[in-house]
Amino acid sequence: MSKVKVIVAGPRGKMGSEALRMIEKQDDLELVACLDHKFEGKKINEFEDLPNFDVDIYTDIEQCFQAVEADVLVDLTTPEFGYLHTKTAIQYGIRPVVGTTGFSDEQLQELTDLAEEKGIGVIIAPNFALGAVLMMQFAKWAAKYFPDVEIIEKHHDRKLDAPSGTAVKTAQLIQEERESKTQGHPDEKETIQGARGADVDGMKIHSMRLPGLVAHQEVVFGSAGENLTIKHDSFHRESFMTGVKLAIDHVMKLDLLVYGLENILE
Ligand code: NAP
Repeated sequence: MSKVKVIVAGPRGKMGSEALRMIEKQDDLELVACLDHKFEGKKINEFEDLPNFDVDIYTDIEQCFQAVEADVLVDLTTPEFGYLHTKTAIQYGIRPVVGTTGFSDEQLQELTDLAEEKGIGVIIAPNFALGAVLMMQFAKWAAKYFPDVEIIEKHHDRKLDAPSGTAVKTAQLIQEERESKTQGHPDEKETIQGARGADVDGMKIHSMRLPGLVAHQEVVFGSAGENLTIKHDSFHRESFMTGVKLAIDHVMKLDLLVYGLENILE
């Protein structure tokens, strides 16, 4: 059986380094290069806290793709570079598996069109934790019966984008079931700007950022005399890696862009 050749972008990051640890444990995956924005020419095994891979770090994506034969790019970087990496990978016929969050609707549409034009598989998943994917599906189901809902997402304080990709995705799934509705009192006024959170079609999203957190979300539904809370916690980044592996396996069989891990689950 030939191994799937993988490039990881963002190998020193919290998610990227976890992806290296996951790849190290798989018999059917081979790490062939890493993409970073520094440490050109260094090898992964020169970093004490990273797995012992004798693999080069590139800082120029085109140079990397020209020098190395690869099947899949796993991107776990920043919204700006994640988008550029994904676009370049599609152009080179390397299948992107993207965990990086914070892409705009326009960027997602552009990448969807490009993947279709090139007939190449792409998976972009704002959350690779299976429990979080189920939380989103349960929330979509509940929204059919409970149109009043607020989302509270909590992440570590190094996170760049807010609200989280998972919160945005949850709101989109809820929107598919929920009648458009402005929640709260019709005359409500914020005495401090932002107090009521971000607004998506009348539902609110609140973002907390604190040291010690990893990735957590509560979807709270309210109705007469009752509340329903659907809650998910990722306590460790290992929780995302089952989903990353699943996506790497699946992207090899796709010829279009799939957004959201739920769309590749049975
Ligand atoms: P992180 O620890 O800050 O890691 C990002 C890494 O990317 C850093 O090592 C950073 O280097 C590097 N980087 C920055 N610019 C780069 C470039 N141009 N090329 C290559 N590498 C570059 O962040 P994280 O917590 O791992 O998160 C990474 C992304 O994954 C974020 O978008 C986050 O929201 C997302 N995320 C997704 C999931 C999911 O399940 N889909 C779960 C958690 C997080 P420096 O530190 O030197 O800048």
